[in-house]
Amino acid sequence: MPETGRPRLTIWGCRGSIAVGGPGTVRHGGATSCVVIEEGPRRLVLDAGTGLRRYGRSLTPPDIPGPHTVLLTHTHWDHLIGLPFFPPLYHASATIKVLGPDQPGATLTQVLDRLLDPAVWPLQPSADLRVTPVGPGRFEAGGFSVAAVRVAHAGVTLGYRIDTESGGSVSYVTDNELAAMHPEERSELVQLVAGSDVLIHDATYADAQLAERAGWGHSSAEESVRLGLEAGCRTVLLFHHDPDADDALVDERLELARRSAGSGDMTVMAAADGLILEF
Ligand SMILES: [Zn+2]
Ligand SMILES: [Zn+2]
Repeated sequence: MPETGRPRLTIWGCRGSIAVGGPGTVRHGGATSCVVIEEGPRRLVLDAGTGLRRYGRSLTPPDIPGPHTVLLTHTHWDHLIGLPFFPPLYHASATIKVLGPDQPGATLTQVLDRLLDPAVWPLQPSADLRVTPVGPGRFEAGGFSVAAVRVAHAGVTLGYRIDTESGGSVSYVTDNELAAMHPEERSELVQLVAGSDVLIHDATYADAQLAERAGWGHSSAEESVRLGLEAGCRTVLLFHHDPDADDALVDERLELARRSAGSGDMTVMAAADGLILEF
């Protein structure tokens, strides 16, 4: 695609819960959560699911040292398991900054120690790995201004809004059960994502499944659209596809979501590995 100099995001993984493969997943992809935001020299990696591996392998030698900034929403394996497969981790000249929330039973550092423990992983990193816990509020990551709020999901999970220097904005809210949010939590989330150029939101299910999936920590495609409409977002990108949903079922949920969006000018899309959006 032509370089326009505008900020862009690339989907490297958009599958929820566990990586999947096979003929039913070729269009939307089977890699778990990983999104990269770029603007000029600035790069920010959102979540370290299995999609991080292919992103890492796409880096040219001058880009391998980084510094790389990886911002985690939470520490469930599907958002973390790509990190040991990120090639810069084994380059002594590379710097990798990992930011994310501490969990009630373990700090972020302790979770990463478990991930790279010799009992479960054979290699030790040679890169300079710097871990910084983050919480709700504002901070800088990868040269971008980031705002964070708590969302409704097991443990401590954060939703993020990333504002670019050129005035663009992406909100990344995956692993969130909208139906389980208290009204104050929801209004905080609406404020966070208000007017985003792109809202990436958990769309694991369709509305019809919500009753049987209450408490599982995820949302429907139609709920993601309702949040986008309420917050005046330009594009809603359905994300964290159900590992049990094949391409046809993801298309079906996209259709339901588009219908619930009505005739306004908000765009609704389903995330797919390799999708690039300028904003
Ligand atoms: Zn997940
Ligand atoms: Zn999760």
